[in-house]
Formats: sequence, structure tokens, C-alpha cells
Amino acid sequence: MAGMYGVYHGADGLRAIAERVRLWTQALRAGLIELGHKVAGDLVFDTLRVRPAGGDAESVLEAARAREINLRDFGDGTVGVTLDETTDVGLVGDLLAVFGADNAAGTRAGKPEPLIVDLLAQVQKEDIPSAFVRTSAFMEHPIFRSCQSETEMLRHIFRLQGRDLSLVHATIPLGSCTMKLNGTSEMLPVTWPEFAEMHPFAPAEQTEGYRELFGQLETWLAEITGFAAVSLQPNAGSQGEFAGLMVIRAHHEARGEGGRDVCLIPASAHGTNPASAVIAGMRVVVVKCDEQGNIDIDDLRAKAGKHSDKLAALMVTYPSTHGVFEEAITEVCKIVHESGGQVYMDGANMNAQVGLTNPGRIGADVCHLNLHKTFCIPHGGGGPGIGPIGVAQHLAPYLPGHPVVRPFDNLQTMHNSANAQGSQSLGWGSSAIGAISAAPWGSASILPISWVYIALMGAGGLTRATEVAILSANYMAARLKGHYDILYVGEHGTVAHEFIIDCRGFEKRAGVKVEDITKRLMDYSFHAPTMSFPVPGTLMIEPTESEPLQELDRLCDALIAIRCEIREIEEGTLDRDDNPLKNAPHTTEMIATDAWGHPYTRERAAYPIAGLRQDKFWPACARVDNPYGDRNLVCSCPGIEEFAS
Ligand SMILES: *Cc1c(COP(=O)(O)O)cnc(C)c1O
Repeated sequence: MAGMYGVYHGADGLRAIAERVRLWTQALRAGLIELGHKVAGDLVFDTLRVRPAGGDAESVLEAARAREINLRDFGDGTVGVTLDETTDVGLVGDLLAVFGADNAAGTRAGKPEPLIVDLLAQVQKEDIPSAFVRTSAFMEHPIFRSCQSETEMLRHIFRLQGRDLSLVHATIPLGSCTMKLNGTSEMLPVTWPEFAEMHPFAPAEQTEGYRELFGQLETWLAEITGFAAVSLQPNAGSQGEFAGLMVIRAHHEARGEGGRDVCLIPASAHGTNPASAVIAGMRVVVVKCDEQGNIDIDDLRAKAGKHSDKLAALMVTYPSTHGVFEEAITEVCKIVHESGGQVYMDGANMNAQVGLTNPGRIGADVCHLNLHKTFCIPHGGGGPGIGPIGVAQHLAPYLPGHPVVRPFDNLQTMHNSANAQGSQSLGWGSSAIGAISAAPWGSASILPISWVYIALMGAGGLTRATEVAILSANYMAARLKGHYDILYVGEHGTVAHEFIIDCRGFEKRAGVKVEDITKRLMDYSFHAPTMSFPVPGTLMIEPTESEPLQELDRLCDALIAIRCEIREIEEGTLDRDDNPLKNAPHTTEMIATDAWGHPYTRERAAYPIAGLRQDKFWPACARVDNPYGDRNLVCSCPGIEEFAS
């Protein structure tokens, strides 16, 4: 949205907006001074701090509220006003009326009052002081000058959309990312002004609907995770990790054990785990995994013992990032607790737990949820995330607070209504670690997506979704077994909600790298699974409960067909260097060329299986040398020849 705002307005439009905002602010300032109020500073852009004449800030705030305007109350007899590009003559008239002008009101529906015309004429003449005038050019790419009509804007957006293979075309089987359906009914409320236009610091009495939603969602997520309390503040799973580790630190400090700073992390962990631990001021000690991909219990016991007087936490993902329900998980938690540490569960794989088990039951103390994975918020190219944390009772006092709004008041109201005993006695929020993000409930405007999902599914539906997600992964693993090696399976030969296929053998036998397989999948109109995480040279597939059997089969068919192509290279029927995998993806430009010089047919390149004749997604761009590009950054703005020279 921010990008398209820039494209639509361009540099000229942004400057015009800024000039207009400044003009209104100056006009308002001149009017307020004329009315006898004190306005701080004489250089203004969009914000004024006003000391009302007679020192009566309260009656100004009240007059504003009566006109449905929230002014900022500095609490020291001054009030703040900020204007933006939505400001119009009516609003400025209302504001002047709020500050006592009797000839400015009522302009919202009608024509500008003479007062405002006067004020505008006064300030038109004022130049921006040269010290503050921007002289350098910006946003010079032609795109910022070519979409200034709605028609062109629409076409630009649709051109970009047409280059993006998304869930509207095919499954996105990215393991660990849980790319599931973002249901239309879940998405609709996000655009409602009641959600979209609320300021995070709006007065509590104006946000009762939002607060009810926060309270219900916190209660539901607490029940789903088996924890006592939930904070919706962190804006991503990684931020949840940071928040959770800070909560753990605060817990140790409160017990006089602030020296505990060692964080145990299994070798299989997501990269955000060690990054969060370091940012939270902890020292990372890596725990080995055994050949089956499970945490090496002996190594864990040894390291927990060795660091027992310094152990702060273990971070563990369950089911593991290897896609297996580790049978020793409760023992893992026990070992850490016995050495004085807390267990942080990375909840990215909650899609395999919801309704069947939960982190609280397993023995974890904190866990984040990726609402943009398990709970349907579109992510990746599709939108922002939310990473709430749930905590056990003993950690609830340390949940993130906020300097402007107290999130616990809501938490307590919610808890009080559920539990007559009340939570005041539990001291929730009493020792808050401070704010983790700028807004008290993080990215609140997208919470309705998860709220609607849970409300529509209900307990039974959520559990069924987990079962189907696990079933789908096992179905695919069973179909692909024999064509590819499934890298890790549990004791009973099954996988969790995702699984890893091993592609490491192909390089030696056929010169095929895992990347060649992912690129070839584009010719089959699929998005690749997660590549080389957590094991280099492998693919991790997560179908989710959202994909019907026919789509699972389509993906299996494509992967099996690619395996057959690899076999042809192994057997020498396809050239080792010039083959459909090495040259993938094939664009229309490549296929339509007169000089097709490859030893396989164009038909084979573009339509390797029959189904593609019906529906084919054409990649917009041929193979890119990723490492080369990463190491040779250039500005892709026009004038690349200039840049090169
Ligand atoms: C996605 C993921 C994270 C990080 O979550 P973000 O919301 O992307 O910050 C952490 N751990 C695992 C296992 C994940 O899959």
C-alpha cells in the first residue's frame, strides 16, 4: 500500500501534499494566534502545540470531543493538533471553532468562511526557510510519473499481480511458512473503517469494540496454547521470540538470578532463534541433533548441566523444523527446568498442534504464535504478520507493557469476567518489561482475520484442520516415497504437518542441484517448497489443510515428473548441461524464439505434463544467477548503462 501510494502520487504529488498540509497548519496557527492562544514555535509543518488562552485546556478538549475530534492532551495545560492530507476546509473551520472562533463553525458542509479565506491569503506568502528546503531530486524512476490516472494505476497493479504466482494460482507448499487459505470472509473486516481508521492511542471509551476483540482473541489463544495470559503486541514471530526471552530474563532477575544468560538452541532451529537470543542479551549454546534429526538428549543433558547456574532458556520448535513430533519433547522440557532454565517454544509449527496438544501441556513456559501462519493472516508478499506470545502464570507479570496505554487493564477485565477470583491478585502487568512495539496491541488492524478464522472454525473445526494438515503431509510423503528419500520420519514412519525430501544425491549423479528442481517447478506452474532450510540441498513441503486432494496430487505429479527428468539425465538420454532443469524456468520469450538451440523440444520445455495446456502460469523472468546478483548489487533504476560506465 505504501509503495502504491508513492507510485500514484510520485515526487510531485508528495511535495504538493506536504505543501498543502503545511499551508493548512500555518493557516490554523495564524487563526489560533489571532484568537489569543499561545502556539509553540514559529516553524511548523503539520503539528501545533497550543496553550489555550485562559489556561483552559480541558474545555478545548471537550469542545473537540463534541465535534468528534481527538486532540492530544499533553497533561500540562497544552494540547496538540496534527493535520494531514485528509484535512479540508471543514476540519480547519471546526478546529478554529473548538478554540473559540465564532465565525468559523459550520463550514464543513458549506463554503469556506471569510476567516479561513483570510488566513490562507496571509500564509500563502510565507516561504519555507531555505535551511529546510529539499533541493535534491528523489523518486526519479519513470514509474513515479506514469501512473497518475486511476486507469494507469489499475493497470500497473494488475501487471505486477500478473507476474506473481500466488495462492490464487496454486498451492504454495513452503515448509515452516504455513501458507494456508486467507478466507475472503476473514479478510473483509480489515477494510472496514471501524478497524482500519482507529488510532492506536484513541481514548479507551472510543475503542470498546476493538477491546472486546482483543480480549476474546487473547482468551482463545490462551486456551489454544494452554497458557494463562497472552500479549498481542509483538509484530512478528521473531519479535515474539525477543519479547518472550525478555520476559524470561525479567523472571530470572526478579528471583535474584539475573546472571542467567545462556540460551540453548538446537542445531535445527530457525535462524531467528539465535538472532533473538543475542538481541535479548543472551549467549547462544548450540545443542546437537542426532541422525534422525531429533535433539540429542545426551548433549542437551550435558550442556544444561554444564551451564546450570547460568542457564536462562532453551528455545525449541515443536514439531521440530525437521517435520517430526519429537517423542522426547516433555523430557527436553524437564531437563531444562531441572537446570533452572525456562522453555521457550517457537510456535511456528502450531498448525500441527492446535486442538491436539499445546505448549502449556507439553511443559513450555512461553510460546509465540505466528498469526500469519497458523491463523490465516496473509504474509510474505501478501502482508504483515503478528507474533503474540502466550505465557504460563508465573511469567504473566512481565508481559510487555506500554507507556501510553495499559494493555493489562484489558487483560484484567477479560480475566475478571472469566474468573471471579480476578487477576489483580496475580499481578499481571505489574512488572512489565516495557513496550516491544510502538502500538499497545501491535498490528491491531489485522487481528480481525485471526478472530474471524477462530470464530468460524470453533474448537472442532480447528482440531479437524490440524488433523487434515498432518494427514495431507503424510499422504504426500507416502506418494513421493520411492521417488525421493524422505529425510526424517518419526518412530512410526510418519511425519508431522511437513516433511523434507532429500535432493542432495542428484548433484553427483546428474549434476542437478536443488535449485534446478525449484526452477523447473515454475515451468510446471508451481511455487517451490522451502529450499535448503533447515537442511541444505533439500526441499521442505507443507501442504496445509487448505489444499484439496487434487492439488496435492498435482504437486506430487509434478515432482515425480521432474524426478523422471532427472533420471533421464542420470541415464544419459538428456544432456547433463543442456536440459530442461538447467535452463528452467522457460519464459514465453525463450519458447517463441526462432533460434531454439536446445537438444530437447520447446513443447517439452513448456508443457511437460498435459494439464498445463489448460492452465499455465508463465514465469516472467528466466533464470537469474542468485549468488552473482547478491554479490554485485546495482541500482535497477533506468540508466543502467550510465551506471555501468
Ligand atoms: C517463520 C518462523 C519464525 C519467524 O517468524 P516471523 O513471523 O517470520 O518473524 C521463527 N521460527 C520458525 C520455525 C519459523 O518458521
